Amino acid sequence: MALACACMDALQGASKQLPSLRTRHRISHHHPLFWIIICSGWFHAAAAAEEEDSELLQFGARFYNTSASLVNGKLNVHLVCHTHDDVGWLKTVDQYFVGSNNSIQVAAVQYVLDSVVAALQEDPNRKFIYVEQAFFQRWWREQTPRMQNIVRKLVKRGQFEFINGGYCMHDEAATHYVDMIDQTTLGHRYIKQQFGVTPRIGWQIDPFGHSAVQAYLLGAEMGFDAFFFARADYQDLLQRRKDRTMEMIWQGSKSLGSSAEIFTGILWHHYEPPSGFTFDISSKNSPIQDDARLNEYNLPELVDLFVEYARNQSNEYQTNHLMWTMGDDFAYTYANTWFKQMDKLIHHVNLDGRVNVLYSTPSMYVDAVNAANETWPLKTGDFFPYADKPHCYWTGYFTSRSAFKGYVRKLSGFLQAARQLEFLVGKNQTGPNTDSLEEAMAIVQHHDGVSGTEKQHVANDYAQRLAIGSAEAEKVFNSALAALIGSATLAAEQHCPLLNISYCPTSEAELPFGKSLVVVVYNPLGWSREEYIHFPVSSAMLLEVTDGAGNSVPSQLLPLPQSAYRLRKFYMDGDEASMTSNNYDNPLFHLVFSAVVPPLGYTTFRVRRASSSKTNISIKSTVETQHTTPTVELTSSQLQLSFSSSTGLLTQLTNSKAGVSTAVQQSYCWYNASDGLTEEDPYQASGAYLFRPNTSTCFRFTNADESSMAIVRGPLVEEVHQSFAPWLSQVIRIYKDSAYAEVQFTVGPIPIDDGLGKEVVTKLTTNLTSNNEFYTDSNGRDFLKRRTDWDLEVKEPVAGNYYPLNLGIYLKDNTTDFSVLVDRALGGSSIVDGEIELMLHRRLLYDDRRGVGEALNETVCNSNGNCEGLTVQGSFSVYIGPSEQSAQWRRVHGQQVLMPLQFAFSVLEDGNEAAIRSPQFSAMQPFYELPPNVAIITLQVSSSNITLQPLLFKAVEESELSKNATVNLQSLFANREINDVEEVSLSANQKKSQMKKMQWHIQGASGSQTSGSRDRDPMSNKYSVVLAPMEIRTFLIEF
Ligand SMILES: [Zn+2]
Repeated sequence: MALACACMDALQGASKQLPSLRTRHRISHHHPLFWIIICSGWFHAAAAAEEEDSELLQFGARFYNTSASLVNGKLNVHLVCHTHDDVGWLKTVDQYFVGSNNSIQVAAVQYVLDSVVAALQEDPNRKFIYVEQAFFQRWWREQTPRMQNIVRKLVKRGQFEFINGGYCMHDEAATHYVDMIDQTTLGHRYIKQQFGVTPRIGWQIDPFGHSAVQAYLLGAEMGFDAFFFARADYQDLLQRRKDRTMEMIWQGSKSLGSSAEIFTGILWHHYEPPSGFTFDISSKNSPIQDDARLNEYNLPELVDLFVEYARNQSNEYQTNHLMWTMGDDFAYTYANTWFKQMDKLIHHVNLDGRVNVLYSTPSMYVDAVNAANETWPLKTGDFFPYADKPHCYWTGYFTSRSAFKGYVRKLSGFLQAARQLEFLVGKNQTGPNTDSLEEAMAIVQHHDGVSGTEKQHVANDYAQRLAIGSAEAEKVFNSALAALIGSATLAAEQHCPLLNISYCPTSEAELPFGKSLVVVVYNPLGWSREEYIHFPVSSAMLLEVTDGAGNSVPSQLLPLPQSAYRLRKFYMDGDEASMTSNNYDNPLFHLVFSAVVPPLGYTTFRVRRASSSKTNISIKSTVETQHTTPTVELTSSQLQLSFSSSTGLLTQLTNSKAGVSTAVQQSYCWYNASDGLTEEDPYQASGAYLFRPNTSTCFRFTNADESSMAIVRGPLVEEVHQSFAPWLSQVIRIYKDSAYAEVQFTVGPIPIDDGLGKEVVTKLTTNLTSNNEFYTDSNGRDFLKRRTDWDLEVKEPVAGNYYPLNLGIYLKDNTTDFSVLVDRALGGSSIVDGEIELMLHRRLLYDDRRGVGEALNETVCNSNGNCEGLTVQGSFSVYIGPSEQSAQWRRVHGQQVLMPLQFAFSVLEDGNEAAIRSPQFSAMQPFYELPPNVAIITLQVSSSNITLQPLLFKAVEESELSKNATVNLQSLFANREINDVEEVSLSANQKKSQMKKMQWHIQGASGSQTSGSRDRDPMSNKYSVVLAPMEIRTFLIEF
């Protein structure tokens, strides 16, 4: 936790300075009609870009002197002009861009950019920063070459600066680091291509808490010089104002140490100007009236107020440089209202002379602060969780829209796999290609996207974008596999994206004798893996599985749990495309068998209908519903799970290989979401952002001490099917050689007919002595230690101890770790020693008044018009073991969850064996694979230079142990000769060798920052890369 000290009294004047925390964005209500009236203004005329700079200077200086620069020995107020443009929130990204649907919110980014560019041309001293590339790219491609030239000049002159520069301003809680890097790369690449510049500053001014990975990977490793944000815990913020520690050096990674530190600043007044200095067309503030002949002349008061704010702020910051964020949500639709007022401010405040004020940017500000040569406090850890008031913890959004979060994570793995195949067979520039999925994935990383804090119609828009992108990427995936296999007859392969509801028309169709189902299994990881795979098949047949060489493969038929039938029926009912060949009430099975798949490659299997005389047919599982012994056990060669026959609940988990065991009880319960009416102090409902239970009690379901239990057994996999309520069930599964248990949960529709909002969690209660400590990951990367005994007042003992999980959570005692890994972003905690809880699904009836204006009550309707509350299905994995083995399991298994095996199904006539020329394939050189502590996270054709086909290659060292790993790049590519390799920044927009790191002095450290391991050259010899623990490096490879 970031918080170091107890609560203190509010500083004097703080109420004037603190922004309203009631809503997270201020919604403006101006009417577009105003634009037309004011656009006829006479004050400035637009200057043509062709004008010489000297003419521009004269023009801008006609009335007001805006040419101020820094003044030593004075307070310097840096006016940073900005607009915060959400890439979807109350409206969709496209509605925000064009300005439609204005009855919800008046916002139109196209006019922001139009009017800012015009205003900048009027005075070369004016400056503006722009952040969200999703909007900028939409605007840019509509501009004439003449206007593009004007903007290029403004960028070159430093008047228009790209800040952050990702496609969106991503969330930092529910995002995986791979997706954060991808979406930033997408924005940075375009800026580099069009303008030849690299953004210098991280600018995450609205996300609801800040992660360590943001600071070091998306900050220092991007080559940023500094990082700014606005939202920090209210107690932390008060203390930092008092201590003058609003700015600091943030060390986000223990492993990388000083080489990944970054200067970090918390903005003074949220991301708005101080009260009274908002000049948007919709603002109720008085404009500056500096003509004494007019009534309401207010210049002296406003100059005094300006100086007073600057002096107050300087009491809370270390240097005599102060940054004022002159902007707000979707501000500058009529930029002149802002710039005209700021021209006056700069002119008059500088004439007054008590402080100095100038047009600036965060880059100029950071350069000035750096030159001040101060010594800064060191910050480690992160800024989670974020509370704006004592009972208002923004920890609900860690789980909000958990089905959507699952979809985003699932497509993240698929995008990586599809891109790899696109590289292997060559990218089709005109499509189908992976570009639209890449763009959709970038958009949904927004802090009102995957966070789940958008309106429902916007969530629908996000999901639709993902579905369209995914359908196109499926074409890439299927055709690339068909090309590699060397088969035109497999062109009609199906990827079956609905395997999550056990639906795959190709695999479950009746298979006649003489035909076989071809299953292609693709492995996007750089090491070979053996995993059990399963998919639905019809029950009416005996089946036999063979591998690519024709050898028989043992297989097992698993009955589907009842919940699977219900989901299939509801979601496919009325869907015309799926109605033709299937009857959803028919019993189906999942066919399970083991697949060994080479690195960056695939293997193929054939499933045939068998006659009963065969010996290698799939074995049907047995199902036990009556239990004669007090304890029922599931076992693998490494693991044993015990269940009580009487309650049906898990009682013991044993790693039999390592000889480690714990009693463990698993339960489901729900927190009663506060309705915002009953509990005082303040009247605060639980909502999309906030988690506020009305008590700390987690209610068990009626009869929840008992669950119905069916045991499914067979030679390859054993399962327990359990139901805790009609809408809540799970399958616990262990394969023959599993070291871990897989828990697949189905939650929903959560009943609300009692008028109570519910937040459903599962708890795993062990006997580990965890001493108020637990560990959660930062964006799927490092694990950070969390404590429940803060040195702070936490008035929400449950919600105030929730953390975002993307990889997982674990507890430890002296020798043993108890670990849980998740398949999507979720909130989790350990409130009680030895106990882990995960929040799986939320259904709420009230808005939490942070801006979205809707209750998080997700309801879905199928094609027949039947509607019900959303059901969420997902899984988590549970492991117990010695600490070192546990660390390895979390890394290796976590990577497998992130980049799962991908499937393609098709049907082939027997006797047509020649149709599969290459039943098995690896892109790597024979017998080479990456060491298990190294992963490839991106392998992508770089579009910056198509003729040379450079490859963007990102490798990550997964070990937290202190040993280096070596990767031979040439060995990764069997059929291509590497011509050149260049290490680049994480977003591939600058050469690593040319990145210069700003130097800062740190309190308590001797001298300035030392260069860390990260600064060394990773190339040990030609094409051999050495990765230190937890490093990620990016290379451009030319073949
Ligand atoms: Zn925002």
